[in-house]
Amino acid sequence: MLQDISPAVYNNTYSSEKPRLQDICFMFDRDTVLVKRAGNSLEFPTYGMLSSRVERFSYLFRINDINYFLVNHSDISRYGYKFINIRELRTCAPKESVFALMTAYHLHTWYSNNRFCGRCGKLMHHNENMRALDCECGNQVFPQIAPAVIVAVLNDDKILLTKYKGRAYKNYALIAGFAEIGETLEDTVAREVMEETGLRVKRIRYYASQPWGVDSNLLMGFFARLDGSPDIELEEDELSEAGWFRRGEIDMVSDGVSLTGEMIQAFKDGYNG
Ligand SMILES: [Zn+2]
Repeated sequence: MLQDISPAVYNNTYSSEKPRLQDICFMFDRDTVLVKRAGNSLEFPTYGMLSSRVERFSYLFRINDINYFLVNHSDISRYGYKFINIRELRTCAPKESVFALMTAYHLHTWYSNNRFCGRCGKLMHHNENMRALDCECGNQVFPQIAPAVIVAVLNDDKILLTKYKGRAYKNYALIAGFAEIGETLEDTVAREVMEETGLRVKRIRYYASQPWGVDSNLLMGFFARLDGSPDIELEEDELSEAGWFRRGEIDMVSDGVSLTGEMIQAFKDGYNG
């Protein structure tokens, strides 16, 4: 999956260090990032290339011995880099660069959504010791992660696969949705399956998780068993299709990035929840 970058090591401990020449800089413009792409391979600018023009920087994290920064920069036209939509880059290489990009984008979203205090409206300041934004009114805001579930519903030797309506992603998907305030994750699983397909589930088992910075998510994957009738009542606002598939009927191949792909692949390989 996206976060499986071993032997590279991700360290998210906050630091107030300044960028060194070899450190990597992420610069975003809405959902695009400044990058040089050659085929499938990505190269992000170093601080050494941008330093004279960087106006602001924020420490993000470290991978191996390289630090990553979020920067604002006044003139990037001369470097041969361009802004590309981050969703187009999810299966590029090396994988640690894609993981770094998605994680940086999550932090970028949080920083840009919290420039001003939601309580009193004044400018927020970065805490010197930890990843938090402080306001003089006493409000302190920590990074925000939206928990969401992905559910593989099994019925004997079949799995429930869906297709989303009106999205660029056309492959088969699993049931997915955000945890609501006051719910357990098991409640979320049962509610989302019921809302999207009208099915009941039992034996809800945790499988694996995945940070998904594109949408500020922490995705948690569950397998569950059908409880009762297999007849699907499609939630047509969200889904265009949903159905039961045997292992041999699924031609989708995992892209090695998404938890959804990993779970469908696990089922194809014989995993039984
Ligand atoms: Zn405030």
